[in-house]
Amino acid sequence: APGTVLITGTTSGVGLYATKALLELGWRVVTANRSPLRSEAAAVKLGLPFGSPRQLQHIYMDLGDLDSVRNGVENLLNTLEKPLDALVCNAAVYMPRLAKPKRSAQGYELSMATNHFGHFLLIQLLLEHLSGSKRPVWQGRSWGFEAPRLVMLGTVTANYKELGGKIPIPAPADLGDLSGFEQGFRDPISMASGKRFKPGKAYKDSKLCNMVTIQELHRRYKDSPILFSSLYPGCVANTKLFRSTPKIFQWLFPWFQKLITGGFVSEDLAGKRVAQVVSDPEFGVSGVHWSWGNRQRKNRQQFSQQLSDRITDPKTSQNVWDLSMRLVGLS
Ligand code: NDP
Repeated sequence: APGTVLITGTTSGVGLYATKALLELGWRVVTANRSPLRSEAAAVKLGLPFGSPRQLQHIYMDLGDLDSVRNGVENLLNTLEKPLDALVCNAAVYMPRLAKPKRSAQGYELSMATNHFGHFLLIQLLLEHLSGSKRPVWQGRSWGFEAPRLVMLGTVTANYKELGGKIPIPAPADLGDLSGFEQGFRDPISMASGKRFKPGKAYKDSKLCNMVTIQELHRRYKDSPILFSSLYPGCVANTKLFRSTPKIFQWLFPWFQKLITGGFVSEDLAGKRVAQVVSDPEFGVSGVHWSWGNRQRKNRQQFSQQLSDRITDPKTSQNVWDLSMRLVGLS
């Protein structure tokens, strides 16, 4: 039976439509946003929740502020009646036109802070709690428990194995020698590699860290009941993610993805794909990055997408883990 899921970033786009799809499947959804009021307004506009208001709850959490993540988790755990059964890390910022880096509450470059550090801390604070999830399921001969799931939104531009991951505008995702992490990621450091600030690359690098985190969780927590996975839902070219790109790009990009690459996916379908990864038995495998391909075809089945060494290399991912633990204040 569906349980309770926590999902970040649901004022628009993939997160909002994933909320809808999860409610449709019968899940109880808790959303984490920097404005619960706006996430509530967006949900109401879509006609959510359908039935009981208890099915949908909005909490305050600014992922760009580690203190806010800590407080949000503490408040949530005080109010939950049963453990969470799934966590979806979806929120993200993409600011490709910044001339200078913006800084988080802790002074880190803001896309790495929001997309990676905020979620990294959230995951650390919820891991043990999630593994306490107990949803009974009939397993043919006896009763068992449904595995809790931790799902991360990844992307094609962070995966060097795919064409989209090789696009040099402004540069492919690459964490380099991690010296930016080692030097503390605060001013004047703005990139994982410690090199010059490239705002579009900062986003790709943060998504690379998201995908590395899933691979490392899968390696470290082999014996935990939690299934760890990431997904690329397709190119949802008309979400607010692209709000900081030039107007002409916002107009052309969806058409380009529809007519030229064939990669366009609607918010509705992307939301359904997230809900499948959270809920469907077919996705009950840990360590997988799910994709439906770059060129969308009707009824195409999901598959396990091959990942580049930049994501799977155990040495890098162990270092990313250790340095992230330090930067979020856990070691
Ligand atoms: P949107 O911009 O529509 O949604 C992003 C969500 O994250 C918004 O709800 C936003 O809320 C929230 N958010 C941003 N900053 C914070 C913060 N500090 N604290 C809490 N919430 C925050 O983008 P998408 O729906 O396109 O993106 C969702 C995910 O999907 C991202 O992880 C993205 O990387 C991934 N993805 C998207 C693709 C696409 O083509 N669109 C392709 C592949 C992956 P607010 O209104 O407060 O800003």
